[in-house]
Amino acid sequence: MNSLNFSGGPGILPESVLRETQQSIEAVPEVGLSILGISHRSQWFADVVAEAEANIRALLDVPDDYCILFLQGGATLQFSMIPMLLLRHTGKTAEYLRTGYWSSKAIPEAVLEGDVKVVWDGESCGFRRLPTAEELEFSPSAAYLHYVSNETVEGTQFHQVLGLDDVPRVCDMSSDFLSRPVDVRRFSIIYAHAQKNLGPAGVTVVIVKRDLLDSTPKGIPALLDYREHLKAHSIYNTPPVFAIYVAMLITRWILKDVGGLEKMNEINQQKARLLYKTVDESNGLITTRAALENRSLMNVVFGFQNTEIEKLFLQKSALVGFSGLNGHRSIGGIRASIYNAMTIPAVEKLSAFLRDFVAAHCIA
Ligand code: PMP
Repeated sequence: MNSLNFSGGPGILPESVLRETQQSIEAVPEVGLSILGISHRSQWFADVVAEAEANIRALLDVPDDYCILFLQGGATLQFSMIPMLLLRHTGKTAEYLRTGYWSSKAIPEAVLEGDVKVVWDGESCGFRRLPTAEELEFSPSAAYLHYVSNETVEGTQFHQVLGLDDVPRVCDMSSDFLSRPVDVRRFSIIYAHAQKNLGPAGVTVVIVKRDLLDSTPKGIPALLDYREHLKAHSIYNTPPVFAIYVAMLITRWILKDVGGLEKMNEINQQKARLLYKTVDESNGLITTRAALENRSLMNVVFGFQNTEIEKLFLQKSALVGFSGLNGHRSIGGIRASIYNAMTIPAVEKLSAFLRDFVAAHCIA
């Protein structure tokens, strides 16, 4: 029996893409070779990269003065590459929001390159809520503002754009990239690894405003220099051919099969509503971690009355074919990740299972 993959990532991929990938592992029809053994210097692969870029441009309406790069090193390497580009030797201060596990990981890497100010720190509230506009004060002279749009571990998500328009805005969208429309023009850098909504692990998409690269400081190793990747059309060294190929298929799927990001967002909203409704109708027997207004549409993080019940839930749900529902190792609990490829019927199935579980095992 195939399980339903509610994992936080690497996550579920669309069935049609998996079928096409399966065929390409045997042989890509146009090439006659396995995707696992096609040269990254072939014209066919250059076309794959070009289509992936064109599809992302179309989906997000990315203007020409932004470039789209496919890099390695995960979102984690961007925690370093961004301050190397925007903070090193500037004498300025970079502003960071500390809203959870992943934004916290970005901060020490920036500190290596210059001054960093944490403009808001959610640790004292257990990262259960995000700041309101009134709580935030940004400096107009900051080098840039960095935040994470969706905290994958805690299940919180910003539903608005933050910061000042005159300060470069940098956003880690790893866990909600291509899940909803975004006004790219309001950002200087958007980055996202593939392994949630965009494909298997191995490739990270970086959308960067071209003019920022003009002031790249000296002394940056070539592999960490965005300009080298831009010049080489993301084929500076051997890229993860397979990961980029699958990511391209997924952008094609969102564009052609789903019908774009408005449609994708509608589906994602509907899935999240189903699960949160089940939580809200449980009379407090299931509780979400995130404050109501900050709930994530991608990662529904919740818990039961105690860890014994949570253990039982994980056991019983695994027996009927739900996989990946355990919360992140840092906080425990339950996390249902409902990325783009998760279907509405699958979420309905989980909601029904949750309702039955509560009725059978939770005491009001
Ligand atoms: N940022 C966010 C929001 C994430 O969810 C993750 C990993 N799940 C990362 C960064 C780190 O990504 P990677 O493992 O690709 O370096």
